[in-house]
Amino acid sequence: MSQDDLTCETNIARIDQDFPAGAFSRCETPGKRRFAITIAPEDQGDINCSAWYAFRITPTRRARITIDLDYETCGHRYWPKTSTDGVNWTPVSPDQVEISGERGDRSASITLRLGNEPLFVAGQEILPPSVYDAWLDGFADKPFLARSLLGRSAEGREIEMVRMAGETTGQRETVVLIGRQHPPEVTGAFAMFAFVETLAEDSALAQAYRARFETLIVPLLNPDGVVKGHWRHNTGGVDLNRDWGPFTQPETQLMQGLLDAVAADPARDLRVLIDFHSTNRDVFYTIPDELPTDPELFTRKWLDLYQERMPGYEVERDARHEVGRPISKAYTYDTYGAPGITFEIGDETDRELIRRIGREAAIAMMVTMLETPLPAPADE
Ligand SMILES: [Zn+2]
Repeated sequence: MSQDDLTCETNIARIDQDFPAGAFSRCETPGKRRFAITIAPEDQGDINCSAWYAFRITPTRRARITIDLDYETCGHRYWPKTSTDGVNWTPVSPDQVEISGERGDRSASITLRLGNEPLFVAGQEILPPSVYDAWLDGFADKPFLARSLLGRSAEGREIEMVRMAGETTGQRETVVLIGRQHPPEVTGAFAMFAFVETLAEDSALAQAYRARFETLIVPLLNPDGVVKGHWRHNTGGVDLNRDWGPFTQPETQLMQGLLDAVAADPARDLRVLIDFHSTNRDVFYTIPDELPTDPELFTRKWLDLYQERMPGYEVERDARHEVGRPISKAYTYDTYGAPGITFEIGDETDRELIRRIGREAAIAMMVTMLETPLPAPADE
């Protein structure tokens, strides 16, 4: 592919992808007001159909243009959103978007009225590492929250870990939260932001939780995939949430090292791992209640309480387990006997509802965790 494919220009506007998470495979100009963008996955391997795209339109004059989105595989998935500042995003109005074709082969056509300013168009809000940095800076006044470098991605980007814990002298129980194994799954990230903010509040509940539990948060496990606008993989061409067991990739090896360190420390106990993702709806993928976990029946008790706190909203749970499946949820259970949970948010779930979901799920999690019996003391 030539560099020229990655920009295109008419006397009306120019389109490029030269910013974090910018991605498409080809751009052409069938007319001066018409742009054709081809979207393809990051590599030739098997891939989940999360057809990410993000581009910037720089107008040279006010005009109405049409942009066709064509997909080499999978077809259109993400409803287009626009932003002038890269921070605040608005879904494109339904009367400006035309989607055609059958499932698996859909294309989309977007009509936009250009103003004077550059306009970002993307499948979801763009949440690059700088957004995480700013978010974590917001906790700078919280003495119980410490940022550290867990390690680096294949391309050398920082993978940060945040430890949240109040002062204690006793046994420490550990809750692990991770996010962005899959680059386009930003709705899961929004839920994780609200979840973590709730754990960090000054409420009596959050203080009691922090006094007993440490929370280890790895909010952005696949920064390379995010910055490069990947659909699914890291730069090794691997779906990181199919690598928990083989651990062939630097990013997943960091998680293995972290969990092993917790398990090897007699003063700590892994209680739960929650992994934030996105799919076509809000759903929790969990270990079935029939399989014994420690803490016992934690998932059921947590989700029952969460449902009570969410009147008018139906909590969906899909419980299954396949021994040895190389995903975070199954690995956590198989290796440590602790419940692993995949916390999925729908691609287009209302963003305010996502904040409520993250907050209420965090409150229910803290209450449920505080009701679990203390682990048996470590051997001297
Ligand atoms: Zn995912």
